[in-house]
Amino acid sequence: MTTSDIIKPMGLVERLAAGESVIVAEGYLFEFERRGYLKAGHYVPEVVLQHPDLVRQLHEEFVHAGSDVVLAFTYYAHREKLRFIDREDDLEKINRTALRIARQVANETGTLMAGNLCNTNLPMTPGDENTRQKIRDIMKEQVLWAVEEGADYIVLETIGHLEEALIGLKVIQEFGKGLPAVVTMSIHISENSFDDVPIEDALSQVEKAGAAVVGLNCARGPSTMLPVMKKIRQTCKGPLAALPVTFRVSNEEPTMQTLTDENGKRPYPALEAHLNSREQIAQFAKDCKEIGIQYVGLCCGNMACYIRTIAETLGRTPPASKYSPNMDENSYTREAIYNSKLHARVFKTKHVVNT
Ligand SMILES: [Zn+2]
Repeated sequence: MTTSDIIKPMGLVERLAAGESVIVAEGYLFEFERRGYLKAGHYVPEVVLQHPDLVRQLHEEFVHAGSDVVLAFTYYAHREKLRFIDREDDLEKINRTALRIARQVANETGTLMAGNLCNTNLPMTPGDENTRQKIRDIMKEQVLWAVEEGADYIVLETIGHLEEALIGLKVIQEFGKGLPAVVTMSIHISENSFDDVPIEDALSQVEKAGAAVVGLNCARGPSTMLPVMKKIRQTCKGPLAALPVTFRVSNEEPTMQTLTDENGKRPYPALEAHLNSREQIAQFAKDCKEIGIQYVGLCCGNMACYIRTIAETLGRTPPASKYSPNMDENSYTREAIYNSKLHARVFKTKHVVNT
């Protein structure tokens, strides 16, 4: 592929300013864990180095289904996490490899490529300047690699503390060569940040500090994230992002971590029995449009069929729509066999004509 083959898409900020929705497929950690290539627990994306072909394939699959963005798989590929599994030597390699794969797929498909920073999980003890400096260093090196490998914008996500969000944003502004920043925070049981600021106020501060897009990702599902997004719509004036997990949470169990099974146990992260229906994901996309959320995506639990559902709900026809269900072509459900004995045998219907 030569540079002239690259289809240059419209930039993120321009697209949002034009009133478009931007669809963003995330959820790589959970998907690779499900496939058996990533360890739940530390969740370091070693698969980037061990099976780069699979990472490329999943990017392609999500774009095929309708994602406008290829998010480089550098979530939890930061110094603190690599140190934890004793692979600090691979830090730069894992970041650059993930960024290059994402850049290639974006070039080939005419989508945007985003660099990815995330929560460090370091304690934000008041007055502990050393830790704050450590966070700056962790994020700075990842921003520099993302810029060098050609990211179109940078995502800072799953941030619990407002202070960490502001530190990360500042690092992107200082070292990101003007790339736009999308900052999404995570709330759990409380609607406050971990440093106890109501999330709508916290994100308003992040917006005022210069983030191009602010919002929420992870932890909460569509049904417990969107009511909070409505409050955020009141305090934030610019483009908003919502990327929930894809599980059927409730007011009593508002996050994937708090979900319980029929025995009262918490199955996290093995949550397959709690997955949202495609219909619920379609409703999420409709609600986003109604609330005025333009940056629409899915986090943990995401899969290609959900992204296609979002794309189609927003009026798109991604390549995967060619294979969207048409049950009129199905032997058991086509209209011609309604009321037949076969239909009755398959669906327990009552009105059977003698055919
Ligand atoms: Zn997530």
